[in-house]
Amino acid sequence: MLDLIIIGAGPAGITAAVYAARKKMDLLVISKDIGGQTAWSGDIENYTGYQFVTGPELVAKFEEHMKKNNIALKENEDVIGIEKKKDKVFVKTDKGEYEAKTVIIASGKRSMELGVPGEEEFKNKGLTYCATCDGPLFSEKDVAVIGGGNSALDAALQLIKIANHVYIINIVKELTGDPVEQDKLKNSKNVTIMNEAQVTAVLGDKFVNAIKIKTKDSEKEIPVQGVFVEIGLIPNSGFAKGIDKNEKQEIKVDSYNHTNIPGVFAAGDVTDVPEKQIIIAAGEGAKATLGVFRYLSRLK
Ligand SMILES: Cc1cc2nc3c(=O)[nH]c(=O)nc-3n(C[C@H](O)[C@H](O)[C@H](O)COP(=O)(O)OP(=O)(O)OC[C@H]3O[C@@H](n4cnc5c(N)ncnc54)[C@H](O)[C@@H]3O)c2cc1C
Repeated sequence: MLDLIIIGAGPAGITAAVYAARKKMDLLVISKDIGGQTAWSGDIENYTGYQFVTGPELVAKFEEHMKKNNIALKENEDVIGIEKKKDKVFVKTDKGEYEAKTVIIASGKRSMELGVPGEEEFKNKGLTYCATCDGPLFSEKDVAVIGGGNSALDAALQLIKIANHVYIINIVKELTGDPVEQDKLKNSKNVTIMNEAQVTAVLGDKFVNAIKIKTKDSEKEIPVQGVFVEIGLIPNSGFAKGIDKNEKQEIKVDSYNHTNIPGVFAAGDVTDVPEKQIIIAAGEGAKATLGVFRYLSRLK
């Protein structure tokens, strides 16, 4: 039987895996992809040791580190349930079932949807949730970024280098992302920031050709060929039934990354640990594996 299954291969899951391999645990990583949100990040300037690195470059380094340690990986596999029975944890995926003595849930977060007419219809037809992945498709086009937090600013900063014009549609009074990033945008010629504006529909024919927005005193259409939805993230914790979560659906952990179920640990953005950052997720992944190591030693 495996010592450990790690769910997710973002910074938390990959770091947990590297630590587990170095403790010579029998382990398996199951993940939908490699890199998680870090693969969607544009410029990263706050991961110690790298004054500047792009998300895809950092993910390539993480992957290389995992491969160097010969870590078993099931990629493109979706975990749909976990269950603890006696001393085993069963992990059910869309492709099979696995068992281990312990599990680390490091399944991170995913983008929230707008929930307006046209969103479903134009997904991947001009409407996207990932500027890093899809931004290059919008060269010389007019695009809208929906949101005003760090993810939205990151997307807008990537897009000003590619698109003709970038509209930032922000529902509250002011942008809430880092002031340094705000300054970069405010100094850019091809950006229009619209505060207190709400998207009410995404319009188009075969592809997006406009968005409808509502402000305090008017409703209007803005012609755009691309819409980047960056309004926040929700935890990928739905499969973790029976595990205590907070009101945001984040998995509750103690300072050793234990959940309420012995043998089930969690790390990174999927947890209630404050602040969601790459370096924090990676550190939490390391801590979770050291917690697992202590737990396994006690089982022996
Ligand atoms: C646009 C953007 C820019 C950012 N920029 C920065 C930055 O500059 N600096 C910084 O420090 N942080 C940044 N962040 C935040 C940072 O990316 C996250 O805090 C970090 O990636 C969290 O790591 P994680 O491993 O906890 O989760 P994630 O990165 O979300 O990884 C989760 C992993 O779990 C997998 N998964 C999810 N559900 C399942 C399932 N059911 N079954 C199997 N696998 C599953 C996913 O495929 C993924 O591999 C940014 C985030 C975004 C969105």
